Amino acid sequence: MRLIDTHTHLDFPDFDADRPRLLANAAARGVERMVVLGVFEGNFQRVWELACADERIRAALGLHPVYLEQHRPEHLGLLRQWLERLHGDPRLCAVGEFGLDYYLAELDQDRQQALFEAQLQMACDFELPALLHVRRSHAQVIATLKRYKPARAGIIHAFAGSYEEAREYIKLGFRLGLGGAATWPQALRLRKTLPRLPLDSVVLETDAPDMAPAMYPGQRNSPEHLPEIVGALAEIMGIEPGLLAEASSRNACEVFGW
Ligand SMILES: [Zn+2]
Repeated sequence: MRLIDTHTHLDFPDFDADRPRLLANAAARGVERMVVLGVFEGNFQRVWELACADERIRAALGLHPVYLEQHRPEHLGLLRQWLERLHGDPRLCAVGEFGLDYYLAELDQDRQQALFEAQLQMACDFELPALLHVRRSHAQVIATLKRYKPARAGIIHAFAGSYEEAREYIKLGFRLGLGGAATWPQALRLRKTLPRLPLDSVVLETDAPDMAPAMYPGQRNSPEHLPEIVGALAEIMGIEPGLLAEASSRNACEVFGW
């Protein structure tokens, strides 16, 4: 089984004790490639170093809405400089993680919107896919994407919206990132939506170290768990795991131009 983990935070200190062992084990389990996403300016260098040190790792750089209070106005300029400097380097694969988070009430929505649009513009300018964090904000994200129409589209990370919202994203060329969330029996709506999604619209992700799947409750999540996650998602979708693995890997390669 050939798998691609389109969303990880392997730069986080959670992995400092055993990162090489984890990467070797993930590869042995068929995980060919992993995307590591920057979330604030302070971790860009670290994310980039990981992508330089291991050819299975690709980097994305972005300013995550949850870290709104840490971002300074000059960080957008610094992000643009990173993207300029790495333009055309295959180890840089996207702008992200960025987006809108309306779940956390303390995050000012106007400031989030400005940050979101500035980074969408960068995805357009540098012709890179956008890897988006969308929580309780689908309508606003869809409306904004319709204005910018980023040519390379991208991925809606940890998609948990409705079927109607999925259709809007698909019309805009976006893929839907699926991972541990749907493996939980409580995720009723998502589990009903999954079998209705076209197979060419989904990609796989773990969001490691977060979003542990139901088979590893409360544990650090890891790309090593992707084969079990594929098995659980394929069962919900009513298809063979091999078919989901193959389609999702093909879709990921299309998004990133691999
Ligand atoms: Zn993330």
